[in-house]
Amino acid sequence: ITLFPEAFPGVLGASLTGKALDQGLWRLETVDLRTFGEGKHRNVDDTPAGGGAGMVLRADILSRAIRFAQRGAPDDRRKWPLIYLSPRGRPFTQKRARALAEADGITLICGRFEGVDQRVLDHYDIEEISIGDYVLTGGEIAAQAVIDAAIRLRPGVLGNAASTEEESFSHGLLEHPQFTRPATWEGIDIPEVLTSGDHGRVARWRREMAEELTRSRRPDLWKSYQNRKNHP
Ligand code: SAM
Repeated sequence: ITLFPEAFPGVLGASLTGKALDQGLWRLETVDLRTFGEGKHRNVDDTPAGGGAGMVLRADILSRAIRFAQRGAPDDRRKWPLIYLSPRGRPFTQKRARALAEADGITLICGRFEGVDQRVLDHYDIEEISIGDYVLTGGEIAAQAVIDAAIRLRPGVLGNAASTEEESFSHGLLEHPQFTRPATWEGIDIPEVLTSGDHGRVARWRREMAEELTRSRRPDLWKSYQNRKNHP
């Protein structure tokens, strides 16, 4: 649900997600919030109650769009997550992406201006997801980030299924550094171990590098990784 349907599929139309879209491995329906607006100008927003800058998306109008978007969902809305992209939301994670990848469908609400009327969030018990601690102009980029992270985990979307098993977050660690040809670039060689042909050494090196990177860059992830290792 968006005020800017032309923003979709956007980057999702490129590369592997785009190919999967063309092949019908997933579908996208953009619901134009404007069509549910009121009056000659199809107004969708109004000034914030209590005063202050900006505009707020109206509960009644957004509610109509939600009902329309969910018409194809099973009766039990739980089976079809209803999500509002919001900087106030719970931070998006690979774990949540995995769960969304298994849903039959999802309805994503892209906010604009100062956001949406709180009553609609409460009434529909809408999950709020944030893609990071910064403020975007609208929810469309955030929605595309969530869709991309979920779709690439659906069967058949990535050519090589193993590539989602080894990547960052899959084992609670960031991924090890990657290298490719040329063997020497600007006088810098690829680490010797990676050209040794010794799979055991390569695996150990990658694990050590992943641990080192996680420890230095993401103490939060490192702490939970160690907790899990010590208390499996
Ligand atoms: N007034 C809101 C606040 O301070 O929390 C910010 C509204 S923002 C300008 C407009 C819309 O962009 C939001 O309704 C939301 O849909 C989207 N948005 C902005 N930052 C986001 C983030 N970090 N994650 C997800 N969505 C975001």
